[in-house]
Amino acid sequence: MQVLIAGAGPVGLSAANALADAGIEVLVLEAEPRLPQNLRASTFQPPTLDLLARFGATQQLIDMGRVAPKVQYRDRAGWVAELDFGVLKDNTAHPFRVQCEQYRLNEVLAARLGRVRYGAQVTAVEQGDAGVTVSVNGAERLRALYLIGADGGRSRVREALGIALEGFTWPERFLVASTPFDFAAVMPGLADVSYFADPQEWFFLLRVRDVWRAMFPARAEESEADILSDAGIERRLQRVYAKATPYEITHRTLYSVHQRVAESYGRGRVFLAGDAAHLNNPLGGMGMNGGIHDAFNLAEKLAAVLRGEKPEDELARYERQRRPVALEYVNTITIANKRNLEMCDADEQRRWRAELERAMSDRAAQRELMLRISMIASLRKYACA
Ligand SMILES: Cc1cc2nc3c(=O)[nH]c(=O)nc-3n(C[C@H](O)[C@H](O)[C@H](O)COP(=O)(O)OP(=O)(O)OC[C@H]3O[C@@H](n4cnc5c(N)ncnc54)[C@H](O)[C@@H]3O)c2cc1C
Repeated sequence: MQVLIAGAGPVGLSAANALADAGIEVLVLEAEPRLPQNLRASTFQPPTLDLLARFGATQQLIDMGRVAPKVQYRDRAGWVAELDFGVLKDNTAHPFRVQCEQYRLNEVLAARLGRVRYGAQVTAVEQGDAGVTVSVNGAERLRALYLIGADGGRSRVREALGIALEGFTWPERFLVASTPFDFAAVMPGLADVSYFADPQEWFFLLRVRDVWRAMFPARAEESEADILSDAGIERRLQRVYAKATPYEITHRTLYSVHQRVAESYGRGRVFLAGDAAHLNNPLGGMGMNGGIHDAFNLAEKLAAVLRGEKPEDELARYERQRRPVALEYVNTITIANKRNLEMCDADEQRRWRAELERAMSDRAAQRELMLRISMIASLRKYACA
């Protein structure tokens, strides 16, 4: 085997498809008995859509989800700032976001690859000069020239390498509740992706095909049972839009939220990608997208080295190009996004609103901002590192 990949999430499956297309022998090991159907990410950014198009996956995401050409920032009193991804039409073939559950992408990518071993948990990793040996379920041993740890935030591969995930965990957790209630019908002009600033309790509304997802911060002192109770969710949703009948809730989850980056993106013949390498808050929709960008970057380099087109030190560029994006770019933007929604200082609020309003009236300023929000700028900045 040339490359083993731990984890059939969006990152492991993107890397596997890119490697297989380059003629590399690759096998994905997934701990779960089938593809997990969790409802985490749903925002696909323009450059991610550009990358996934080569697998034919972008059109499928569009068909299964919703095209979101705009993003809005609002407050509860009626202030609205709206930005349009259309200003990026010369920078991407997809000047919009697509809203679609991440597990649907996993299904598309796994079907296309046709080679995932389920119920195969990576439990130990050893490496020497010539290759890597991976223990599966504590028993079987598989050998490969390289291993990609795309096994999520609690990565066993990262642990086996002894690599620390540096950063911090926010005291508050984030609640996500889904409802078929159509907020756009009662909030005129509401965009499919809308962030609401409020120093007491910010929230955001995000539309996928059949439901709206609402996300709220939950204070550290609130109990999990209260936060997730019908009454707790109802109270929060009634503050979004007060209505006489209770909300129907089709899905609810509470997440711990981290801002962490691995101290290194690999050792020797083993590399980390996606959540195994970096975790950030979901405000801005950057975690999975950044992970998919890691996957394409690493797969291209591994393929070039395995085909003898580049020397092995080409692989060192992976960390040089991708770790600064997580540290300086995704961390900075997602922390700023959270601060902008929750800040109570009136001067700070005025400054943030003025920046958005300037972007709305000045196309060049809007393009600059949208290049950052869409993550196109992150790919450009470190492309030559
Ligand atoms: C509420 C919420 C909303 C989010 N919204 C967005 C968004 O809109 N846009 C965005 O870009 N990001 C978003 N994210 C982040 C996004 O969900 C993650 O960044 C993404 O899932 C990371 O993909 P991954 O493939 O690295 O890891 P995962 O999706 O976690 O996949 C890892 C896989 O590895 C498997 N695995 C684990 N351990 C082992 C092992 N030892 N051996 C073999 N297999 C193993 C797991 O079963 C899993 O299938 C959100 C996150 C949350 C919590």
